[in-house]
Parts: sequence; structure tokens; C-alpha cells
Amino acid sequence: MTAQDYTPDPNLKVWLDGKLVPVADANINVFSHGLLYGDGVFEGIRVYHSRIFECTAHMDRFVDSLKAIRMEIPWTRQQIVDAIEQTRQANKIENGYVRLVATRGVGTLGIHPFRTASPSVFVIVATIQMYDPEMYEKGMRIVTASTIRNHPNAMAPRIKSLNYLNNIMAKLEAVDAGCLEAMMLNHEGYIAECTGDNLFLVRLGKLQTPAPHCGILEGITRRLILKFAEQRGIPTEETTLTRQDMYFAEEAFITGTGAEVCPVTEIDQRPIGNGTPGPITRQLIADFREHTKSGKEMFGPS
Ligand code: PMP
Repeated sequence: MTAQDYTPDPNLKVWLDGKLVPVADANINVFSHGLLYGDGVFEGIRVYHSRIFECTAHMDRFVDSLKAIRMEIPWTRQQIVDAIEQTRQANKIENGYVRLVATRGVGTLGIHPFRTASPSVFVIVATIQMYDPEMYEKGMRIVTASTIRNHPNAMAPRIKSLNYLNNIMAKLEAVDAGCLEAMMLNHEGYIAECTGDNLFLVRLGKLQTPAPHCGILEGITRRLILKFAEQRGIPTEETTLTRQDMYFAEEAFITGTGAEVCPVTEIDQRPIGNGTPGPITRQLIADFREHTKSGKEMFGPS
């Protein structure tokens, strides 16, 4: 099946504002400010072996995003976790993907964020289409996008908002170049991140990744990778990086909830290192996979 003829499984049940409903009944009003203005935030989470992966870290980021856009939802953090679990069970998903969305809800046609009835929250739990397994063995090609990442003082990339057009503009460039990802620079020309993933490189044995102030989403997979590297004694650095750092890198990889950890072996027609996934990348992929099996939260409640 191609994405073009994708229709959700009609048996899928969606949690919408407190009720589990068949997907066909999970409708969004055309006056939703989530739809009209992208006024809302979301989380993308994985389920491995029937457990919500790094639940605490995702809930923390969700709460931060809500706070940043001054949105209060009528559910507690625990109620949201329960909703995810209830939806997971209703759809019998043992390994899959969770999409948690909060929108400002239905309102007038103006952008006024408080002229809305009440926020709306929904949860989808479904199976996930991963990248081709071969890509994890051979690595992916990426290009630098000409579209720069949002200026942090305009629409902070640290907020996981429903406004993804910035990323989509860069993704179009990736697709045009026959790639699945593109590297986005920030307003100062430093590397920010990819369209839906964080980016890491290895140079002289050191693992480097753009710092949060470079204008990135602070990915939870990114946080995990920094932790695994630390545990292995691999030096890490969150810093400012340029395109040349990628061109000179020995290894590179992307991280994200959907992609997990995927080697990058070519950028802008230049092979990275010897053009195959390097040893540090392979080690960190193995550590990540092991962690998904462990059922433990790295950043969980102590
Ligand atoms: N950056 C962007 C722009 C993203 O959308 C995502 C999530 N898909 C990431 C980075 C990776 O974050 P996480 O590891 O928390 O999924």
C-alpha cells in the first residue's frame, strides 16, 4: 500500500475528549483552531512491548509545550497517560506509535486564542511504518535544505507545535532530491536539525550535536543517545556546528521517535567517512534497541 491510498483502519478506536470512538466518528470541527491556525501542540511517542516508551519525558515535554502556548487542558497528566494506555489496549497495539494532540478547540474565525470554547485533546495509537531496514544497515542520504529552521524568537522549535509547515517546506526539498530527510540550518547558518529528526555527527572520536539554543526540538531520542554515549565513555558535546562539520565528519546519524537511530552516510553528494555506518553509530543503535527491550524509563520518575 502506498501513502496515496492510505485510509485508517476502520476498526481503529480513537480517544477524543474523554471517549473512545471509532475512527470514522473521531471528527474535527472545521472551526477548530488547531486546523485553522495550527494552534495546538502534540507528542509522538512509541509503544514497545506494550509499554509507553519514555512516558515521563514525553509527558514533561507535552506539559512544557502547553505551558509555552498558554493552553490549559481539562485533563491531568495521569488522565492523559491513562487515555494513551486505554487507547493502546482498545486497539491491541503491542508495538506502535502514539499521537497525542491538544488543540485550542473550536472558536471564532479570528486568531484570538481565548475566543474558543475549550481545548480538545485526542489520542491515536496505531501501527507504524518504519524506514526500510536496509537503511539502518547501509545508511541514508540527506541534503541541506535551503529553507532555514524557524527563528527561535518567531516560532521556537523547542515547542512541539502543530505548525509544521517550516519542516514540510524543507521536507519538500528532501523529496525533490530523492531523499527522506534534509538538514536544516538556523538563521545564523549553523546546523539546527533535520525536518523530523535530530542530527548527530562524530569527529575525532567525539559525538557532537547542535545545542538547544541552535533552534531545535529537544528530542527524547537525542537525550537518550547523549546518555548512552556518556555511559560508554564517548565524549559528547552540544555545540554550534556548520555544514563543513558534516562534510568533515567520520560518522553521522539522525534520531527521532519514528526513525529511532538511523545512520547518515551521504550529505550533499559527499560520503560521510567511508560512506558506511561507523562503529560509534552502530554501538549507539545497539544501545537504543536494547533500551527499547528493557521496558525501563531512562528519564522516568525515580
Ligand atoms: N526534531 C523535530 C523537528 C521533530 O519533529 C522530532 C520528532 N519527530 C525530533 C526532532 C525528534 O524528537 P524525538 O526524539 O523526541 O522524537
